[in-house]
Amino acid sequence: MSLLPRIASIKPGEKFDTIIIGLGPAAYSAALYAGRYMLKSLVIGETPGGQLTEAGEVDDYLGLIGIQASEMIKLFNKHIEKYSIPVLMDTVVGFTRQGDEYVVKTKRKGEFRAETLIIAIGTKRRKLNVPGENEFTGRGVSYCSVCDAPLFKNRVVAVVGGGNSALEGAEILSRYATKVYLIHRRDQFRAQPYYVKLVKEKQNVEFVLNSVVREIKGDKLVKGVVVENLKTGEKREIPINGIFIEIGFEPPTDFARVNGIETDENGYIKIDEWGRTNLPGVFAAGDCTGTWLGFRQIITAAAQGAVAAHSAFTYLNQKRGNSGVS
Ligand code: NAP
Repeated sequence: MSLLPRIASIKPGEKFDTIIIGLGPAAYSAALYAGRYMLKSLVIGETPGGQLTEAGEVDDYLGLIGIQASEMIKLFNKHIEKYSIPVLMDTVVGFTRQGDEYVVKTKRKGEFRAETLIIAIGTKRRKLNVPGENEFTGRGVSYCSVCDAPLFKNRVVAVVGGGNSALEGAEILSRYATKVYLIHRRDQFRAQPYYVKLVKEKQNVEFVLNSVVREIKGDKLVKGVVVENLKTGEKREIPINGIFIEIGFEPPTDFARVNGIETDENGYIKIDEWGRTNLPGVFAAGDCTGTWLGFRQIITAAAQGAVAAHSAFTYLNQKRGNSGVS
């Protein structure tokens, strides 16, 4: 099984029933359902698996017990391949409405047309915006514990955040690093209690709570982190070799604004319970939407992808005057 999906052999300008924008779990699931509804579909995305590429073992997707994320991505590819859904590895720059169809513009492969769109573009990582962060990115500053943990064998590291990513990251890092500092701005965690318990049991993890990062220091590589305790105002520098910033994700506000899609008060794409956006025939699914904010799971993204594909099918039927499958 391959980590890469079947690459589309399609011509620029070709028209589809639906174009699915994105390549994470929501997009794969939308593609699967679009395939089962026999919609002529195209998936356009950058990284097969999306944020899932940054996960290690997945044990919260029903039926796939303790599966590696990379294996899961291969299964997703295999599943949409069964329905011959083509995938184009490209970046969608934007789309415009022309008559009753949408013209989707990509960075490299030209334009494609569709009567419906399913947007499943996920989110992008939030930054700390402190001195040293940009300077040392790739030189000790990382945004993916799962990907980079093995590089810090026998080193001292810090993880910033109090959600599932940070706690899962601290747990993985504790297997490689000699010492892990978990820096969190509060003393309560957003993460699932399961992760908190797991990390608390680790002898080499020290919790630095009610604290924020003020600066990341180093010369060629990261050497330390300046942390301020918000309760006492005390500042101290902790010597480290690496720092993992796991403080969540930002909404796709720019993509939405450029393409005229309404967002909610947090900047996520606004959808109703059927995945409908404010634009006719445009649906959205997964982390880029405001639905279930704070509870982002592979299984919830997959559910939303399925709903969006169902809605695209229903929309096309209504538009074409069909009442269903004949
Ligand atoms: P998250 O749940 O949004 O948590 C972000 C954490 O970073 C919070 O603890 C937050 O602090 C902290 N934070 C945010 N901005 C900060 C800043 N500027 N400075 C310092 N700290 C800051 O993000 P996440 O942990 O990346 O998870 C994202 C989504 O993916 C969640 O829905 C999560 O459930 C999901 N996920 C699930 C799994 C799993 O189920 N196995 C694994 C990973 C991620 P406060 O708590 O004070 O706000």
